[in-house]
Amino acid sequence: MRRLPLPLRIVATVWIAAACGWGVLAKSADSSYRDIAAWASNHDLRAVNRGDDLLLTNRWSRLRLRRESTTLVFNDVEFRLSDPAVFRGGRMRVSQRDIESLVGPLVSPPKNSGKPIRLVAINAGHGGKDPGNMEGSRKEKVYTLALAKEISTRLRAAGLKVAMLRSDDTFLPLESRAAAANRMGADLYVSLHFNAYEGPGEHRVRGVETYCLTPAGASSSNDTGHHGGGWNPGNAQDRENITLAHQVHRTILEQTDLPDRAVRRARFKELTLLRMPGILVESGYMTHGSDARFIYGTKTREQLAEAIAEGILRHKRLMERGQPE
Ligand SMILES: [Zn+2]
Repeated sequence: MRRLPLPLRIVATVWIAAACGWGVLAKSADSSYRDIAAWASNHDLRAVNRGDDLLLTNRWSRLRLRRESTTLVFNDVEFRLSDPAVFRGGRMRVSQRDIESLVGPLVSPPKNSGKPIRLVAINAGHGGKDPGNMEGSRKEKVYTLALAKEISTRLRAAGLKVAMLRSDDTFLPLESRAAAANRMGADLYVSLHFNAYEGPGEHRVRGVETYCLTPAGASSSNDTGHHGGGWNPGNAQDRENITLAHQVHRTILEQTDLPDRAVRRARFKELTLLRMPGILVESGYMTHGSDARFIYGTKTREQLAEAIAEGILRHKRLMERGQPE
């Protein structure tokens, strides 16, 4: 085989490494923008402009993007882009990292690597000396534990193994929760929390937010200004993280009255360290009357447990069969 001149050999080596190694791509903080309609036509999606919006549709997918906005709506579920969609040169453009870590996995969910999903780690947020949010005498840690038990009963009934990272009122540092899930080889990680908001319009803010890890280099959804961060072990599962978040979030919206406050991004400590797909669900606001009644009521919380368990099972079926429902 004829050898290439040295500069070309270096270019070819770098190109081949980038093309072959997903890890190489995932670790690059690629904030360059791409024409999303051109990308969509390669994925059998039809693009239609509607005022400030661009719609991308096919038999299974209906995406809506808005210019200068971080809101993406996929099949009626709201997501936050890492970078706002922009309209330049008469075309809607989306950042490469949003295509890789959000739009791509929504349109073409990742195929399972062949490893079945058997063991789910459930983290009841807070515990012991850490009560979490306080609303009068109500403590978040009590309700996250109740919900964790209700979910694990349902998952076990469906044939899954469940590891409860805490099963009583004890304190565990966030690092040790993620480390325990890694050590036991859990296939999924679901962390349970309830939200609180103190500020203007305090009693109006309500709904469910599902978080997965922020892609490398991007800002988190609730950051003000740019606070990019580096690559974390949890970013190796960027594509599966968003699939799990989508399935759990949409099932909660379908099966409860909680309003949609979007699938968002954050660098929560526990999510950064995970070596399996993981999410953190904030299922309602303790500071909102209707949400609070929903969280504290046994019947309504069981409805939530049912939805989260079903969302996990939908993710499992999607990964194992590669078929969206
Ligand atoms: Zn919490």
